Amino acid sequence: MAGRKFFVGGNWKMNGNKSEIQSIVNSLNAAPLNDQTDIVVSPPAVYLEYTRGIISPKIRTAGQNSYKVAKGAFTGDVSPQMLIDVGADWVILGHSERRNLFGENDQLIAEKTAFALESGLGVIACIGEKLEEREAGRTEEVVFQQLAAIAAKVSSWDKVVVAYEPVWAIGTGKTATPQQAQEVHAQLRNWLKEKVSESVASSTRIIYGGSVTGGTCKELANEADIDGFLVGGASLKPEFIDIINARS
Ligand code: PEP
Repeated sequence: MAGRKFFVGGNWKMNGNKSEIQSIVNSLNAAPLNDQTDIVVSPPAVYLEYTRGIISPKIRTAGQNSYKVAKGAFTGDVSPQMLIDVGADWVILGHSERRNLFGENDQLIAEKTAFALESGLGVIACIGEKLEEREAGRTEEVVFQQLAAIAAKVSSWDKVVVAYEPVWAIGTGKTATPQQAQEVHAQLRNWLKEKVSESVASSTRIIYGGSVTGGTCKELANEADIDGFLVGGASLKPEFIDIINARS
């Protein structure tokens, strides 16, 4: 809210093939989409160019990861330059699956964020606590530490969207309540105000991710500090259109 443009990203994770992507894209291209919302889809890297070629120009594309240098002996990885070359405008960094399944730490995520921004991509920077951390009352401490690592390397916030994604809500069907999400979003915005600046705090989009559905999106979108969503499972389904239009 407060003048921040609503932002909805669809993280397809390691899903889809050309024919499935064609049908998702057909339904997005034909849908009435709110033009007051930034819309981004993030296919697997090998399908980025294919998706860019068939999807409406109103929808931007994002990589799901990128490394901290432009090229070299880094088998299996992709650089921001490569993502840009195949038409991407954004990259998702620090997703909890990258952190927890692939062992990425705050330092690496911060370096990758800085390099992606320098290279001209926008970054959807993901942070979020695990269930045991929430239950131990450590949510604030954990998300502040993750955000601080990123903030230490970011000089311009214009192209950063912060995604608050509690790990216990990702892919579990357990959406945070609007109150739980709003509480953390407000804490994060306050952290930005105190540690970065008032203008960065008021202009940076903080989006929520974690089992958002067509059924839960409207109530979440009404919260003052929730500026959009990062959507996994539901971004592969027709209800993604309702999520994009949650603020209509
Ligand atoms: C995600 O992967 O960023 C995510 C939020 O997944 P899901 O919506 O499936 O919980």
